[in-house]
Amino acid sequence: MAQVTSGVTVAEQVKENLMRVRERIALAAERAGRDPAEIVLVGATKSVDVERIRAAIEAGLEHIGENYAQEAWAKYQQIGDAVTWHFIGHLQTNKAKLVVRFCKFVQSLDRLALAEELNKRAEQMGRIVECLVEVNVGGEATKSGVALEEVERLIRQASQFPNIRIVGLMAIPPYLPDPEQVRPFFRKMRELFERLKGLDLPNVEMRYLSMGMSHDFEVAIEEGANMVRIGTAIFGPRPAKGGAGG
Ligand SMILES: *Cc1c(COP(=O)(O)O)cnc(C)c1O
Repeated sequence: MAQVTSGVTVAEQVKENLMRVRERIALAAERAGRDPAEIVLVGATKSVDVERIRAAIEAGLEHIGENYAQEAWAKYQQIGDAVTWHFIGHLQTNKAKLVVRFCKFVQSLDRLALAEELNKRAEQMGRIVECLVEVNVGGEATKSGVALEEVERLIRQASQFPNIRIVGLMAIPPYLPDPEQVRPFFRKMRELFERLKGLDLPNVEMRYLSMGMSHDFEVAIEEGANMVRIGTAIFGPRPAKGGAGG
């Protein structure tokens, strides 16, 4: 098993990190007067090797999120259904078929054509795919996701498809060095989430508000996130690599 300089194994390090993250999640939930048990932790595992992922699963991690369809599929071959798979990266329409085979959740639904394709593939496999609509809450040209004003329309349209279910919203707010600066974006998401929930649309269950990553998850939880996607704080820094989806 791989060793790091201190003599602690990679697996031990991951387990330790995971414990820390869980503690921080619990404290943030308590600060917000919420039950820590209601926060779903999704390990973000792009470029993380199977050894580290297995260590986290052994330590109790139940959800992982991947960004690249082929990479995710290769890992699924080794890990299987020991964990619940989420797709969290930009999803090309021609990769929907592959992703539907093993992902219970697609958190990056950002267009009607993708909803249509996911529905078609899910129907062929006799499955229902749970989808979160990705919101471009910062209105950033470089990021995927639906504009705030378009979210309700996409949800209304996508909710017509019987083999996908809209179960929440996902957002990657702008990266700002101080997580406190991100708070207004999280708050905006929470308001949208509550408003959509209040509409009580047929075939829509506004269950998950997925926001918060390694550097800002505590603020996200304080502002209402009940699903956080955490990579670096659990698995360590990723090797530098271009691209943000696929
Ligand atoms: C990489 C990634 C994360 C996790 O980022 P960290 O900063 O490593 O915690 C969360 N969500 C998405 C969509 C990602 O691509």
